[in-house]
Order: sequence, then structure tokens, then C-alpha cells
Amino acid sequence: MSDLLIKNCDVFCCKDNKPDFLLSHDILVTGNRIQSILPTSESTTTPVKNRIDASGMLAVPGMVNTHAHVPMVLFRGVAEDVTLEEWFNQYIFPMESNLTPEDVFWGALLGMAEMIEAGITNVADHYFFMDEVAEAIKASGIRGNLAWAVFEHEGLEKFDETVEFVKRWQGRAEGRIKTWLGPHSPYLCGPEFLTRCAQLAEGLDVGIHIHVAETEDQVALSQKQYGMTPIRLLAQTGVLNRPSILAHCCFPTKEDIDIIADHPAGVGQAPKTYMRAGMGLGPLKAFQERDIPVGLASDGAASNSTLDLYEQMRLMALTQKFIENDARVMPLDKILKIAYAGGARVCQENDLGVLAPNKLADIVLLRQDRSAVIPRLNPAANLVYAINAVDVDTVICNGVVLMHNRQLLTIDKEKIKGEIESRLARLVKKVPGKVVAVYPT
Ligand SMILES: [Zn+2]
Repeated sequence: MSDLLIKNCDVFCCKDNKPDFLLSHDILVTGNRIQSILPTSESTTTPVKNRIDASGMLAVPGMVNTHAHVPMVLFRGVAEDVTLEEWFNQYIFPMESNLTPEDVFWGALLGMAEMIEAGITNVADHYFFMDEVAEAIKASGIRGNLAWAVFEHEGLEKFDETVEFVKRWQGRAEGRIKTWLGPHSPYLCGPEFLTRCAQLAEGLDVGIHIHVAETEDQVALSQKQYGMTPIRLLAQTGVLNRPSILAHCCFPTKEDIDIIADHPAGVGQAPKTYMRAGMGLGPLKAFQERDIPVGLASDGAASNSTLDLYEQMRLMALTQKFIENDARVMPLDKILKIAYAGGARVCQENDLGVLAPNKLADIVLLRQDRSAVIPRLNPAANLVYAINAVDVDTVICNGVVLMHNRQLLTIDKEKIKGEIESRLARLVKKVPGKVVAVYPT
């Protein structure tokens, strides 16, 4: 007997590598995979364990968030309208030194509730106390590509602890957890540290998730310190020989783009963060010309306010049109490819990012009945420019329903709210001299 039948929805899928919308279809799920997608008129009459009437809704793949610091929802709104250097050194790094593993667990769970409500079913997370993030993934029902962020100044012993984390959690939670290594960045991890990281990743057969080339200043600093760009440094130390998520990567040189294209690396882009911080935008056109995988990223809520990829998708398309002064730039098919299949490609997940038979059953049902989504003359335009995270009605991950009719089924939001409120006064205290790291200037 099949497990789940989603009745009578429109389905966003891919045909000849282009977005396509099927009207009035049924999606049948067996175990954790999609068994079939058929017109409702031809669909199965055999018994199923669970049925969802999705009349009038649009089924899309669960989104993949390619770079986040999920527990940073704890610091939402604490550092606004400040430079990147102030953001790190005066607010975030001092406050992060207050974090306990339990804080991280409750922050992660709140972030996962927010992501489920926004139709995200997989997150590449990069933070501290990642055992607690893994526990939150296990409890929430979404997927995670988890990397424990380490700084060189913490020493190799700390790094070895994160290697143990990789071994401890790889493939757990019914296969929903994947673990990679997470050196913070070339500006806080030098060449020897990065080389060791690349060797360990090879030995463990895992990828590497790292911040790189976020600002022009970082690129200039790397040139001064090492005589090369941070991307070249990642190539020379062997990091780029591993599957890699390059977080932000807004300022690669032309040569850097060639280097990235020749390695198994993808880029996570968070245009809202870049606009808020006044950093500048990534060269998406150049990435696309070289077929470099690009996906949407939320970054942390302390730099981005929300973990909402619908907002990021819209901003990515609009900012590209704006900077090129050309409405034809980043058309609907390209932005939809980045938003869905692109995220899966960045995380090297071949069975995610598209709704098709045999793919993993990570399915989101979007309501299309808000006034702003009527009429449905152009479903692709509605999906990019009219639909919002608030339209997410039902979320299924790995074949399991995590939210239905906007009711979270795996997470108790009231309990999380209470836990977080009881911790806030301690968390936002800045203890003189206590910081997790120092952002170089
Ligand atoms: Zn980040």
C-alpha cells in the first residue's frame, strides 16, 4: 500500500530543462520517494494510508537553503544598520561567546519551525554545538547538511572534535543528516589549517562548507597576507578538490571563476544580506555562464532578519535586473532553476530539488487563493513575484508530513518561545574581553 496521495494539485516540475506546470495532477508517495505524478483523471484508486486534498494548490519541491547559521535566530534584530566589522566585533562575536549547547538547540528548533513554515526542507547549516543542531534536525523532520564552524585560533584539538561530530552523525535521522567539515573562512583559518582540513575531508569522504570572498576588503587582505585571492588559496590548499559550498563568494576575480568552474564547488547566495550590509552583489551572470551551481541562502537571521528563501529569490532576480539595467536579465526560468534545482545541486543532492518519480518526497503545497496570486495566467511569474512564504500550506519531507494547513506537526512553537525568552537577557550581554573570534580589518 502506498503511504500518501496528494490529490488534484498543480505541479511545478521540469520539462526539457525548463520549468513546467502540470494542472490537476495527483502525486503518489511510497516510503520516502515519489512513486508517480499523474493527471487526477487517470490517477490511482488503490487504497493509501493518507490522503491530502490539494485542490487549488501548487506543489513545488522543498527548498534547499544552501548556507545558514540557523541558531542565530536567537540574535534576530540585535545588530542593525552597522558595518560588517561592527556587526562581528561589537555584537555577534561577543554575544556568541555566551551560547550554551542548550541555547543552540532551542535556537535551531525555532529556525527549523520558521523554515518549515517557509517551505524549506533541507538546510546547509554552519554553526557551533552542532550535536544540538543535529538533534533539532532529528526532531523537526527536515534534512540538514551540517558543518561545525571552526576557527584556526581554537587549535587542532577543537578541529578534531568536529571530525568526531562528522563521524557521529553521518547518515543519521533516517538518512536526513549529512555532515561536512566547516572551517569558518580563509580570513580566520590560514593555509596550514585549510590544508589539514582538505586532507581530513578527503579521508572522511565529505565536503567542506566555508565562507569566502564576501567583501572586496577580504580579497585585498588575502592578497596582502598570502599574495593570492581567497579562492586561489582554497584551490592551493586542496579545499576545492572536495565537494564545497562557497558561502557568499561575492567578489571572485575572473580567474577565480575559472578556478571554481573547474572544481566540484557551488555557491550559496543571500542577496538580502548583501543589500542590508551594503556589501555588493555576487556576479551571478558570470557564474551562470560557467555553469557554476548557485543556490539561495538565508545566512543567519542576525544579518538577514528571516530564513525566508521566497524573499531571497525575488531579491536575487530584481537586483540582477537592476544592476544590469536590463529587464531581460535573470528571467523566470533561470531564477526558478536557482531557487529549486540549484540549491540541491550546490548541496550535491541529486534526488532533491525537483518533483519527479523516484525522487525523494520533499514536497511543499502552496496556496494560490490570496488576492495577490489571482489570476493564474502565468504560474511561473506568480511563483517568483507574488507567492510568499505565508502561502505555504503543507510541507512533506522524506515522505513525512511536517506541516498541514499551516499547523506544525513535529514542533511545539509555544514551548520554544518560552525557552528562548527565558534565555535572552543572558544571551545579549556583552562581557568585556569575551569573544568567539575577531573579524580582521
Ligand atoms: Zn554565513
